[in-house]
Amino acid sequence: MVIVMRPEASENDVEHVVELVREMGLKEHVIVGSDLTVVAVIGDDRKKEKTKLEQAPNVDRVVPILAPYKMAAKESKAERTRVPINDTCVIGGEAVHVMAGPCSVESEEQIMDAARRCKAAGATALRGGAFKPRTNPYSFQGLGEDGLKLLAAAREETGLAVVTEVLTPTDVDLVARYADCLQVGTRNAQNFKLLEACGQSGKPVLYKRGMSMTISEWLQAAEYILAEGNPNVILCERGIRTFEDHTRNTLSLSVVPEVHYRSHLPIVIDPSQGTGHARLVPDMCKASVAAGADGLIIEVHPDPEHAMTDGGQSITPDALTETMQSLRRVAEAVDRVLGGSDVMDTASV
Ligand code: PEP
Ligand code: MN
Repeated sequence: MVIVMRPEASENDVEHVVELVREMGLKEHVIVGSDLTVVAVIGDDRKKEKTKLEQAPNVDRVVPILAPYKMAAKESKAERTRVPINDTCVIGGEAVHVMAGPCSVESEEQIMDAARRCKAAGATALRGGAFKPRTNPYSFQGLGEDGLKLLAAAREETGLAVVTEVLTPTDVDLVARYADCLQVGTRNAQNFKLLEACGQSGKPVLYKRGMSMTISEWLQAAEYILAEGNPNVILCERGIRTFEDHTRNTLSLSVVPEVHYRSHLPIVIDPSQGTGHARLVPDMCKASVAAGADGLIIEVHPDPEHAMTDGGQSITPDALTETMQSLRRVAEAVDRVLGGSDVMDTASV
């Protein structure tokens, strides 16, 4: 941090600030300018309480230099983090992976059909909520453990990795028994006890951005998972709340290069919650990959009209197949490949 003194600060005021800095176990470098003096602090000050500096006589402001997150910051790790969800689905490498499936697990027939068709289209992971965070308490809440069992059966047959949401710290063990990757939803993005429990599970975590969180808050919260010794964090942008109402949320794609600039963690995009309209999903998939996303999580339903949740934003398996074909070309244009491309090659022969 840098402590900027007011122009009228005396030598004593500066000396007092220097003493406070030393009391904090840090070193100082005093720069006396023609108009004002600044005290540059040397050392990691992120965990230090700065109030006493801000309140010291004739301190104008205290300016942080280091990002408030540490383990999530690029400075703490030179190479990009790769998160292996299973043997074929590794997020953060050269391949861009597509996780696809219904918003909710509804029945054996629905999830098996969705899984087979998503696999045939080239997806490498299956999404589907067994525990649903619903705005209205009377809406369908998901099938719970029965839904997890159906997801595991779909994995057994197709080999797709399973990504599914966990809502509470007490459910983490249960969901982790069936899932390959735990999803933390936007409504729980600052449920720090849940983030810690996911960290302790050691499972990969698809961690969605809170709908009103800044990137800095999001990366600070990701630190709760990392600090438990779990490096397997995949950030997921799913749109934020703005005044715009032509979409359900505003899908902020500039976070992709920004997250890559600030952090070593991979980032995937959810264009389904991000737009709320199936017709917008294919183009936003392409835009996400063009912007450098490490993956996509897409809602795909064999019969969107009759979906129990989020049918309006769910694309059909045929639309997924078509989208994957153009994504392959977009990925190539930005020096990436599409994960599961071998499956598509076989399917198109
Ligand atoms: C979902 O993926 O179906 C979901 C509820 O997501 P979000 O937490 O982004 O709203
Ligand atoms: Mn949904």
